[in-house]
Amino acid sequence: MKKSPGIDELAGQVAALDLTTSRHADDAAGRLVLEEAVAALRVGNYGVGAVIFDARGEVVLRAGSRVIRPQFRSDGHAEMMALGSLEADHPALVPSTLTLMVSLEPCPMCLARIKLSGIGRVRYLADDYDGGMVHLAGRLPPIFRLLHPDQDIRRADVDPALRELALALFGCNLRALRRAVLARAKGQTTT
Ligand SMILES: [Zn+2]
Repeated sequence: MKKSPGIDELAGQVAALDLTTSRHADDAAGRLVLEEAVAALRVGNYGVGAVIFDARGEVVLRAGSRVIRPQFRSDGHAEMMALGSLEADHPALVPSTLTLMVSLEPCPMCLARIKLSGIGRVRYLADDYDGGMVHLAGRLPPIFRLLHPDQDIRRADVDPALRELALALFGCNLRALRRAVLARAKGQTTT
């Protein structure tokens, strides 16, 4: 069986992405998001990254998963961290003018937060049919569905290589990280 690539190999693949002939609108932004996923993974968190951009495409802030390090926080998903920083550190920015890009399809918690935040656009690199909520957004309660009807939430326009890297980064160490989270809730530690 083929061994899954480790963090260093995936980081190398992100660094080696050649976007000079890119024909996808979100490739450059997507690479920044993948860099944040690598950074999160390196410190022992899930390999998910997020970046918020202003209307000109300039980076406002970068964030990554913080579920496990420096200490457990159940709301530590990359989108939650990004939106938390946006609201705490950039209160003057107009949410509807901003774009949140994230490496993985937002989960139910994050999609609810995205709705409440009023951020204008959300782009995600990889689908998450097991944990993502965007493809199930029609099942949100009516108020959530009707909130900010102009919000534009969809898959990013990126090269398939970026999509695959986003999934590989999320999958890297995933079982061990999930085991640690489940064990922690019961007061156990894992090695
Ligand atoms: Zn989430």
